[in-house]
Amino acid sequence: MLCPFCSAKDTKVIDSRLVAAGEQIRRRRECIECLERFTTFESAELVLPKLIKQNGAREPFNEDKLRNGMMRALERRPVSVDEVEASIVRIMAKLRATGERELPALIVGEHVMSELKKLDQVAFVRFASVYRRFEDVDQFTAEIKKLNNHE
Ligand SMILES: [Zn+2]
Repeated sequence: MLCPFCSAKDTKVIDSRLVAAGEQIRRRRECIECLERFTTFESAELVLPKLIKQNGAREPFNEDKLRNGMMRALERRPVSVDEVEASIVRIMAKLRATGERELPALIVGEHVMSELKKLDQVAFVRFASVYRRFEDVDQFTAEIKKLNNHE
């Protein structure tokens, strides 16, 4: 982001907030060279944080991947497409609201699990079992027990 006053390359974000119903991020920036302040509006699409995989690789957030993962867990379950889309919107809003440029990929999985938990218990267990890579059946069973105790 170039400074509009002196064209310096280094500017820092001093404030960041969602506007236009989460469609945009408004950022107050300060130029490190001339100390002038200015405001930018960035499309929220573009400012979804990059995801840091467990091996340290960064990858762009991929909405389709998120949707596919949730749909797989929800296969043949009585949950409407509208409900799934609403969950996806909420997850993306949470990721944007962090204002971070990079986030551990694990965080997305955690959000998916909390959304699935509300939508459908079976889908939640399906997703969690793959996501958390349960080592054995005991762990899996313990998770289901935990679920039942919350009911
Ligand atoms: Zn400047």
